[in-house]
Formats: sequence, structure tokens, C-alpha cells
Amino acid sequence: MIVHYGIQWINGEDFDYSRPFFEQFHEILLAAPHPARVTFGENQNSEYCNYNFGFKDSYLCFSGDKVDSCLYSYASGSISKCIESAYSMHCECCYRVVRCKYCFDCFFAFDCERCTSSMFLSDCLGCQSCYQCVGLRHKSFHIRNEDCGSKTEYERRLAEIRPSTQSEFLSAERQFEEFILHFPVKSFHQVSCEDCVGHEVHNSKNCFQCFTVVGDDNRDCAYCAVGGQQMFRCYDTYGTGCDVKSGLELSEVGWSSQDVAFCIKVENSSEVYYSHSCYSSNHLFGCFGLKHQSYCILNKKYSEAEYYNQLRKIVPHMKGTKEWGEFFDLKHSLFGYNETAAQTHFPISELVAREKGLRWSLYENILAEPQEVLPNNILPDTWADISDTLAGKTVICRTTKKPFRITALECKLHKGFKLPIPLQHPEIRLERLMKYRQPYFLYQINCIKCNSDTLSVYPQDFKRPVVCPSCYKYLDSAEYLSELKNGAVAQ
Ligand SMILES: [Zn+2]
Repeated sequence: MIVHYGIQWINGEDFDYSRPFFEQFHEILLAAPHPARVTFGENQNSEYCNYNFGFKDSYLCFSGDKVDSCLYSYASGSISKCIESAYSMHCECCYRVVRCKYCFDCFFAFDCERCTSSMFLSDCLGCQSCYQCVGLRHKSFHIRNEDCGSKTEYERRLAEIRPSTQSEFLSAERQFEEFILHFPVKSFHQVSCEDCVGHEVHNSKNCFQCFTVVGDDNRDCAYCAVGGQQMFRCYDTYGTGCDVKSGLELSEVGWSSQDVAFCIKVENSSEVYYSHSCYSSNHLFGCFGLKHQSYCILNKKYSEAEYYNQLRKIVPHMKGTKEWGEFFDLKHSLFGYNETAAQTHFPISELVAREKGLRWSLYENILAEPQEVLPNNILPDTWADISDTLAGKTVICRTTKKPFRITALECKLHKGFKLPIPLQHPEIRLERLMKYRQPYFLYQINCIKCNSDTLSVYPQDFKRPVVCPSCYKYLDSAEYLSELKNGAVAQ
């Protein structure tokens, strides 16, 4: 069943004061119908996407809003004609961008903002026509951090080195990974933040231990991961944002919600507690799948007065069962630990999961027999040989041996970008994007330049020199290169 803005599941139960609350809530979760996919707002021609808001003509894109003509994106918003984008916003015509903002025509770019027509960039701002560059500000026509002097010279040199075939791209990628090892990395990455502690936080104030909160204008928050955009006084959240005020222990809550606690997938709602998949509602406790409802407990409707009477008994009851103030018990999750984002951020083995009493999924997706499978040896090695006849054909992934389909949009974009189509299954591509993130943990280390104590997402012995944000601010990359050559900076 595909639904928009939730389902309406009114089949309420009286609260049983002889049993724990989580047990009763779990029974509702098991009894209620669940949507096969979660979609919000108007979506067009994007049926192979999930957790999408306002998607158009996109394929295998997950978690995001306003995604138009994109493929294989994750947690990205306001992007169009992008392939393999993660945690990026306001980007257009980009390929493999991670945590980028306002970029156009950029390929293989990480932590960049307002860059155009460039390839292989890391931590660049306002750069144009650059190739394999790190840490540059408002530069153009640079190759490997060196100024070519003119557009003509840049284009002449680029024509000689720009990769064209699959293997050339792989080796250029490896070359760039080696090149950036010589450059210092900022102990944590923040953009226009005031009094914030965390990594990958943008335009926010007074946020503590927050990670990948790339949406702007978050204030007075703590322990929030992934999301952002007008979060105010939110504590312990994941995938939450877009105007949320006073939130506590939330997963995927947003779009104009306030006074919400211990909830999963709640939107446009207020005063909602211990609930899941509820939309445009208020005053709910322990509810699943409601929309446009108020004063409900375990999906049963009450008068306003009786609702508060019940809560006056439920809270002491949950204190007695030690459930009050705790998030839903993991053992009641409908998913195996390995099927969720938790495994991406905090990977554990099946054995450890089972020891902790967590579910572990052994489910194997049953695939239809692939049609029109192309032998690997006739796939184009360069963008110039991409033909429209490839659209709809199936390819077997060279790494996992799983089949995947090449779409018409993929052919069109890759040809326009002058990039060959990768021959890896989308799962491998997502794993590759996730490689460009650090664990959500801060080390206490010493800056390699000024020796002061600094918090860092990189350990002291990281493969790149780690500097504190104030040293990084005054560190021009060219200057740093000459310091490295003179041995003034320890490696
Ligand atoms: Zn320093």
C-alpha cells in the first residue's frame, strides 16, 4: 500500500495498567497496516524512492525533499540532475557530491560550497574551473592547487589529464585521494556557526555534539545527527528538521512540529508523545498511524479532560515500569539492526546484536529474473559511446554480481557530464558515499600547528595532519605546501 501523509488507523485499546506500556504499543504496531513506502506531498514518476517529499522523475533516491531528475541520492534536498549525492543541498548537474551546497557542474566534490565546473574538489569555497584541488577559497583555473594563469592554459592542461575511461577515472580518484593526504584537515567542519560543538554543522548557534546537521538555522540543540533546518531546543534526534521546536528523542520528525517527544515519523503535529507515523495531529500518546486527530491514547479517542486524567495515571505507571523518559525498546523494533541506519553509523556483528537481544534480518530480496541482460564486455568504457539503446537494459554488478538497471535518465546525464556509467550496483555506490564520513565521535587532540587542545572527529594519528579551526582559517594551502617542503610542519 502506498500512502501519502500516513494512514488512518483507529482501532484503539484501553490502557492496561497491569502491563508495561511498550508491550501494549508493540501490539498496535503489529496489528496496524504499515505503508510500503513513506511519501509526502506531491511526487511524480519516482516510485522507486522512499521517504521522499516532492520528488520528480527520480530513481533510487532516499530521504530528501525537492529532488528533481536525480539518481542514487541520499539525504539531499533541493537538488536537480544530480547522481550519487549525499547530505547535499541546492546542487545542480553534479556527480558524486557529499555535503556540498550551491554547487553546479561539479563531479567528485566533498565539503564544497558555491563551486562550479570543477572535478575532484575537497573543502573548496567559491571556486570555478578547478581540478584536483583542496582547501581553496575563491580560486579559478587551478590544477592540483596550482594556478594555471589563464583559462586557455587551464583548458590545454585539463584536456591532457581529464580522465575518460572507467579505469582512468578510478586512477584519477586514487591520485586525488593520495594528493589530499598532504593537506591539513580541520579538526571539525562547521560553516558560519556560533558556539557549536560538532562536525558538519551549518549556520547554527549554540548546538552541542551535533553531527551532519547541514540544514541551516538551528539553535540551542544537543545530540542531533543528520538533518537540521530551523530546529530549536531539540535534544537527541536523528533525521529530524524543517521547523521543529522543543523536541526530545526523535527519529525522522519534522515539518512544523513542536513539543514532541519519543516519536518516530511525526510531521506537522504538536504535543505528541511516544507515537509513530502520525501526521497533522495534536495531543497524542502511544499512537500509530493517525492523521488529523487529537486527544488519543493507544489510538483510542478521549475527551480533553479524560485524556489528561489518563496521562496523570500513565506517567506514574511508566515510572514504575522504568519506561518513562526512555525511547522505545530496541527489541521491539520492526526491523533487524542490520537493516537500519544504525548499522551504517554504529556497525556491529550478528553475534553482538543477538547478545544484546536485537533482531537481525536474514531476509534476501527475491529478485525477478532480469530481462535484457547485457554482457559486461559490450558496455561502453567512455561517455562518448553511451547510446540511448542502453536504457532499460540490465547489467550485472562486477563486484556483487547483483543485477541493476540502467535508466534513460542515467544515459542522458552521464553523456551530458562526459562521464562513463559506473558498473557497480547502487548499494555499492551508496557504500562508497558513506566512506566519506567520520564516525559521530569527538576526540580530544592537539592541533599539529599550534599544539592547543581541540576537539576533533579525527584521531591524533589520522593519516592527514589535523589542525584546529583557527589555525586552518589562517592556513593558505600554498603556504602550507611550502611549509611542508621546508619541514616546518610535522607530518
Ligand atoms: Zn591550532
